[in-house]
Order: sequence, then C-alpha cells, then structure tokens
Amino acid sequence: MKDGPATVPSDRYSRQILFRPIGHSGQEKLRNARVAVVGLGALGTVLSSQLVRAGVGYVRLIDRDIVEPSNLQRQSLYDEADADNHVPKALAAAAKLRQANRTVEVAAIVEDLTWRNAESRLRDVDLILDGTDNFEVRYLINDVAVKHNVPWVYGGAVSSYGTAGIIRPRHTPCLVCLFGPDQGSGHDTCDTVGVIAPAVSIVASLQVAEALKYLTGNLDALSPGLTHIDVWRNEFRTVRYPTPNPDCPCCARRQFPSLAQRQDALAVSLCGRNTVQVRPNPSSGESAEPAFALANLAERLARVADVHYQPHLLWCNFGHVQISLFPDGRALIHGVSNPVEARNLYARYIGM
Ligand SMILES: [Zn+2]
Repeated sequence: MKDGPATVPSDRYSRQILFRPIGHSGQEKLRNARVAVVGLGALGTVLSSQLVRAGVGYVRLIDRDIVEPSNLQRQSLYDEADADNHVPKALAAAAKLRQANRTVEVAAIVEDLTWRNAESRLRDVDLILDGTDNFEVRYLINDVAVKHNVPWVYGGAVSSYGTAGIIRPRHTPCLVCLFGPDQGSGHDTCDTVGVIAPAVSIVASLQVAEALKYLTGNLDALSPGLTHIDVWRNEFRTVRYPTPNPDCPCCARRQFPSLAQRQDALAVSLCGRNTVQVRPNPSSGESAEPAFALANLAERLARVADVHYQPHLLWCNFGHVQISLFPDGRALIHGVSNPVEARNLYARYIGM
C-alpha cells in the first residue's frame, strides 16, 4: 500500500467516544477544531498533551522560552536531553506531541506574544488556551479574544492552588470585567512561593475539560464561573461569574490597550528563575524583524564562549552567564535578574 494520509487506528478514541456527551459527533467536531496554546510551561504541556491525545485537529503551540533543568519537575513533555540541548519549548513539545498522535497537526511557534503578532497568531482559532504565567500576556489574549470574538480558557497556578475558567466574549465577563484593567503586581508568583506539579496539572485539566465541552458543543455543561482549587488545603469551589460589566473598557467599550500599545518592553525578567528577556531596539510598525545571522554570530562568539548552534537558536555559555539568541534578535540572558545588566550584556556580546 502506498503511503497515504496517516490513518487513525479505529480504537484510538473509543473510550472518549463511549463517553455519551462526546460520542461520534463530538469526536468529529474535535477533529475539525483549531486551538492555540499560549505558553508551554507547566500548564501548557498538560494542556497540549491532553488536547492532542483527544484528537483536536490542529494545535498551535506558542512559547518564547527554552527547556531548562528546573522545568523538569513539573513540565511533563520535556526530558533531560531537551534541557541539555537548550531546545526551545515549542519545538520540544511539538516533537513529543507528534509522537503521541500523528493524525493531529501540531504547529510550533518560537516567539514572544506581543501586540505585533498576537492578532495574527490567535484570531483564526476556535479557542485559545492560557498556559502563561503572567497577566501582561493574559490581558493581551483577552484583547484579541474580545476584539475577534474568540473564546479563551484562563488558567493560573502557583504554590498549591490555582484557578481556571472559560471566558466567552458576549456570554461571560471578560478578564477586565473580572480583575479590572490592571492586575498589577504584588500577587504570588512561582518565583516567590514556588509551585507543585499536582496543582498545575489539576488546573490544566480543568481548562481542558472546559475546552472539550466547548469544542464538542456541550455549552450547557460549561462551568458557570471560575473554579478555585487548593490541593494542600483540600479545597474545590466554583464562584459564579458576575454579569459582564456594562461599562467594561474592553468588552463594552471595545478599547484594547494591550494591542494599541505599539511599544515593546526592551528587557523583562521571566518568572521562575534568574533570566531576563532582551529585544533589540525594535523597528516601528509590524513589519518583519531583522533575521539575525546566527551562524556568523556563532563563529564570532566561539572565541569567547562555549557555543551551541542549532537552526532556531544560538546558545552561548560565558561561564557566569548564558545567552540564548533567537533568529529575530530576541535573547534570553540567563544568570542575571537585573534588566539593565542584561541589556549591557546583550550590547556587549551581540550588539544593538
Ligand atoms: Zn469586560
């Protein structure tokens, strides 16, 4: 027999189809569904794994980071080889997921989600899943979701607790209705209070449950509010959504400040470790960013650093700091927490 399109073993989804609310018609809906997972950390690896195994037809993975040893405790798609080789998370996850289900189209995008690319990356899917660890990106997702009427599933977990819920523009309050226009700082992060794997995997599983209900048309089964869990205190409760704020700047007045920002933070600290992301001075407008000649840089930096070059990433170890450089000029400076110091290192070794 000639190689044709990949065939699905007929019993691959049999247990899921036996589940009455899904059945054959629900399975067919999943096959035709397109989703995006933003962030391939602890939440995102569970989200994408369950969605791909469930047979969601197209899964887009968006992440800006590389795999590191401290991820392995809870980021279940990665292994030690991924960390040793500094593989971008989106690529490492995609490789594992394609092994799990070759009938699903998995697209990997190694990018930081910003006002420049958020609409083009998110507006054409049926559902967005939040695997991020910060509110800046969640407000960006919320702006795209409301502007283009794409539902999204919120999720967040730190320490032993977390929250999940589906946000459907025109049906539920949006993120701004729920938390105000600026969540601000001061809340717990995995930097300050740590995080344990069961909290994250339960929150991600709750998110996938909402996704499966929504994508199979079981709208009556959707949770009526945000669900909060704490696996250490043995708590599980759902707080009903309030009615959407009739004066919400986002979903009522349709202002989208995250998309209108038109500027990039040049250096930001990443949650969870001693790393700062640095961008070169951006050109104005949404046009393509300069493609860095990673191969040339690799040759130059090999004189002063231990260099590991792969097509999507140049990784350089200077001893006290390490730099991961991506083709669009974005860099992760590992081993520093001060944005000014990180910018200086970027200027010194890569050039601005
Ligand atoms: Zn709103």
